[in-house]
Amino acid sequence: MISVHGLTKVFPGGVRALDSLDLEIGEGEFFALLGPSGCGKTTLLRTIAGLETPTSGSVVIGGTDVTALPPGRRDVAMVFQDYALFPHMDVTDNISYPLRIRKVPRDRRRARAAEVAGRLSLTELLGRRPGQLSGGQQQRVALARAIACHPRAFLFDEPLSNLDARLRLEARTFLKRLQDELGVTTVFVTHDQGEALALAHRIAVMDAGRVAQVGTPTEVFHRPATTFVASFIGSTPMNLLPGRMGDGALHVAGAVLPAPGDPPGGGDGGDGGDGGEIVYGVRPEYTDLSTTRRDDGFAGEVAVLENLGTATLVTLEGPGHLVQAVVPEGREPALGTTAWAVPRPGRALLYRDDVLVGRA
Ligand code: ATP
Repeated sequence: MISVHGLTKVFPGGVRALDSLDLEIGEGEFFALLGPSGCGKTTLLRTIAGLETPTSGSVVIGGTDVTALPPGRRDVAMVFQDYALFPHMDVTDNISYPLRIRKVPRDRRRARAAEVAGRLSLTELLGRRPGQLSGGQQQRVALARAIACHPRAFLFDEPLSNLDARLRLEARTFLKRLQDELGVTTVFVTHDQGEALALAHRIAVMDAGRVAQVGTPTEVFHRPATTFVASFIGSTPMNLLPGRMGDGALHVAGAVLPAPGDPPGGGDGGDGGDGGEIVYGVRPEYTDLSTTRRDDGFAGEVAVLENLGTATLVTLEGPGHLVQAVVPEGREPALGTTAWAVPRPGRALLYRDDVLVGRA
């Protein structure tokens, strides 16, 4: 439905916001653009919408190359972070504004606005102005305006960022249901990985104007393709510990772990041989704690305990490394004692030159 090819955007002054980026988004997909501040998410969304002109590369929507078309002829609706509602217009006029631009007669405009308002529980508010609405209500009006003219795709820039934490969760569930119901291709920008994991069918994790990985939430969470993705995804970042392969074992942070069954680097075996430097990755959720010595565990002093509600995040400080483990509430060791963080079998990943090469 939406594809971009070799998209590059260099802003005046030389900032390369997008760098030969390729992406394919399927019909009906709920697709998240995720990444740290400044990685190019908004620039990519604005380039798809036609609000930015790429330095090179192309944008194709529904099989048509739209790179040279103005925003109004791309048949996509963009919802901005600040909702961009007209303060002097009431809700009906705000929702029906895109129809007015398309010269739809007044009575049909009002009928469509009422229909969309009904769907988004805005009927009672049709006569109010944006200044008389809560943040959540304003967001629904902005969504209603986007839906009103049956676009081929929705583009959302941080649609939930202006809402407080409780409203944000509510609006998230609402957005997910609405997208399921309408089935319209939706691309949304977020820097909140929890939001991307909860909402999207697929996620593109961006890093410095490029796509580091595209995958389902399960794929990017359980098999992050690079150490960058591994450290970005997850409410507690993955433990990433430098180590090396040698004598048929993995030597990581003082622990000796069994070497992986399949040699990292693929079938040839040459890449994964003895002496190779690796990074060993395991999520704190898949790391258990032992208070007795374990050769297959990373030793450290219990340095920090963080309450996660039903669990505790324990940080162990070892010689030259920090390791975190999530333990059930009430099972945390005492601060200052020594413990061993033991990765669960089959849950660890191996990275070489920051790229995933296999399971540990
Ligand atoms: P955030 O999460 O902070 O909104 P983002 O991932 O959406 O970030 P962009 O807004 O796309 O990032 O910006 C990408 C890079 O391009 C940044 O380095 C930014 O400073 C730069 N940039 C964005 N807009 C312009 C502009 N109009 N002129 C010059 N540089 C720009």
